[in-house]
Amino acid sequence: MKHRSLILLTVAITTTLFAQTTSDKPILGFTAANAAKEHALEAQFDAKLSRDNLRNWMQRLSARPHHLGSDYDRQNAEFIASLFRSWGYDTSIEEFQVLFPTPRKRLVELIAPEHFTAKLSEPVLAADATSGQTSEQLPVYNAYSIDGDVTGDLVYVNYGVPADYEELDRRGIDVKGKIAIARYGGSWRGIKPKVAAEHGAIGCIIYSDPRDDGYYQGDVYPKGAYRNENGAQRGSVMDMPIHPGDPLTPGVGATANAKRIDRKDVDVFTKIPVLPISYGDAQPLLRAIAGPVAPPDWRGALPITYHLGPGPARVHMQLEFDWKLVPARDVIARLPGSDRADQWVMRGNHHDAWVNGAEDPLSGQVAMLEEARAIAELTKTGWHPRRTIIYCAWDGEEEGLLGSTEWAEQHGDELRQHGAVYINSDSNGRGFLSAGGSHTLERLMTQVARDVNDPQRNVSVLERLRDREQVLAHTPELRKEARERALIRLDALGSGSDFTPFLQHVGVASMNIGYGGEDGGGSYHSIYDSFDHYTRFIDPNFQYGIAQAETTGRLVLRLANADVLPIEFMTFADTLSRYLDELTKLAQTARNDVEDRNRLIRERAFEIAADPTQTYVPPKPEPTPPFLNFAPLQNAVSKLQRSAHDYDRVAGSVPSDAPKASVREAALDQALMHIEQALTLPEGLPRRPWFRHQIYAPGFYTGYGVKTVPGVREAVEQKQWTEANRQIEIVSKVIENYAAQVDRAAEIARGRAE
Ligand SMILES: [Zn+2]
Repeated sequence: MKHRSLILLTVAITTTLFAQTTSDKPILGFTAANAAKEHALEAQFDAKLSRDNLRNWMQRLSARPHHLGSDYDRQNAEFIASLFRSWGYDTSIEEFQVLFPTPRKRLVELIAPEHFTAKLSEPVLAADATSGQTSEQLPVYNAYSIDGDVTGDLVYVNYGVPADYEELDRRGIDVKGKIAIARYGGSWRGIKPKVAAEHGAIGCIIYSDPRDDGYYQGDVYPKGAYRNENGAQRGSVMDMPIHPGDPLTPGVGATANAKRIDRKDVDVFTKIPVLPISYGDAQPLLRAIAGPVAPPDWRGALPITYHLGPGPARVHMQLEFDWKLVPARDVIARLPGSDRADQWVMRGNHHDAWVNGAEDPLSGQVAMLEEARAIAELTKTGWHPRRTIIYCAWDGEEEGLLGSTEWAEQHGDELRQHGAVYINSDSNGRGFLSAGGSHTLERLMTQVARDVNDPQRNVSVLERLRDREQVLAHTPELRKEARERALIRLDALGSGSDFTPFLQHVGVASMNIGYGGEDGGGSYHSIYDSFDHYTRFIDPNFQYGIAQAETTGRLVLRLANADVLPIEFMTFADTLSRYLDELTKLAQTARNDVEDRNRLIRERAFEIAADPTQTYVPPKPEPTPPFLNFAPLQNAVSKLQRSAHDYDRVAGSVPSDAPKASVREAALDQALMHIEQALTLPEGLPRRPWFRHQIYAPGFYTGYGVKTVPGVREAVEQKQWTEANRQIEIVSKVIENYAAQVDRAAEIARGRAE
């Protein structure tokens, strides 16, 4: 302790003597003089933010269940629109007609060796004021499960990801004709029924195990924040790695008279019926399963021995849905720019919830509203953004990014022409900054984090994040990086919120921002995600709601005001080079693993090592993977590194205060704002053309989890060697073209091109 305070003292002295005052700190994209003005503007912005607004709006918006298509969802959209209008935004509600199945019948019953019917309901709690609004609550279910009536023996499949089925294969257990029961976690939920169906299961049950989501994590609600035995997780199981959005109108806006495909031709429904249940409902089912004991890391925290099955537990599942179209209402609010009005800085957060949704999504929504209000207030002082700012409150996010996807599809051409950057947020809580996005935006993000104060520790949120990363780093290399790297490393974006259509379909550079990490709990997608829960456990006095507004507000203000769009290329080029290293290692490891395994099979080592009293099925030999030719990718990445280095060097002199500079800056902006689109291809990724970005995509078998350089990475992971080589060629061309555009931007910056 003493040692630590000594260091702090030294730092404090140095900072007083040598630190720049806030107004001297450089801001990427601004001249020194304009950076000073920007700092002054941001100080005014901060001073206008009020926690009371966040609290009042959250209470108002979460007062009743407000899922897609509900009456309160409509009322919330109108309320949000009226706020934007009252602040002077040019506001409209844009409506789409989207397919939204809701349950007519849900039944899960154990029929052997004994009888038990799952309750499938979350009880009303006296301590939670909105938990009793039962007539308006959506029941616990998974949206876009097909209808079905199936009976089969149960097999416990752990998280239900592909590796789990390999483990079952080794034990001679399969799910053909049976019902798989998987626990939540380990992947996005939609992957579980998808992989179960690929292995021949006829039904799938997903339950929340207390080990991952319940009493093992902390005291349960209402005593603590965690999921109680009857809490269950609703959620979409649409096959979003194929495409998000309305299932009936892939690729086009779901307007009232859009051409719709037939329900039988939809490719994003599950192939088998699936339903989520609580651990209270799961325990009798799991207890009735016999067969081999589950491997140690498959066991949850229920007071039972976990067995794999199949049977003798036998389950009857019956699901029937009302497949209707409902309106999705996006609130779109514009603040026109002055001299670069044709460049759009977009900012969005969804407003729909599964039930009352105080945390998901209203914690993010109310911070965005307060940010928008404060920005509108600034215009009363005579300030105006140079670029157009567009706020978007999306509907239908929970079902599959419906509102944002339909809007981005409907406005695709305009977005490709005008979209500069999209900044997304969703749930927000107490803790640390978490930022993901296009790697050209790392410096912008870092400089914003440098200038936002952490409300609990009174250091910058950048410093708090750095300290935490150093403390948690488990290798000296990671510790060194956390200490010495000048920039925050943005996480690559997979999916799971509304940035997906902007980044991965249209190719608008995007970010996703939120605070969290000290807001643990288990209210996610349950009736207990309420105002009461949020204000007791997640961010009780909304101080991180304010930190979020200060962060995203700064991003919006800097992007809207900059002399030149604050984009850099070295950060992106270096990140790509890291991905390339990962890919070459991945291919090498895949090769070594197959060779080693084939040798062990030849030597019968698997059988000899296995317990002779248990069933053990050794793996089958596989052809040795060929060496892949990474040379085209290595050449392309190294070309990009040279181009990026050149651009970042010459762009240092732009923006400038020289006369006529603004003409050059405007030309440069045009080049910069479209450059992310060069990373997309119209034909998209293999087997999923909707996903056009060649560097970032959600994983085909992870769901929300990102796969970088997905064409190559997934081909290697799936052992599709011919496809891997072809994808290396394709991505290399994309990177070369991108590098050529960076060269062009550098020429404009030099004043040699327009
Ligand atoms: Zn959300």
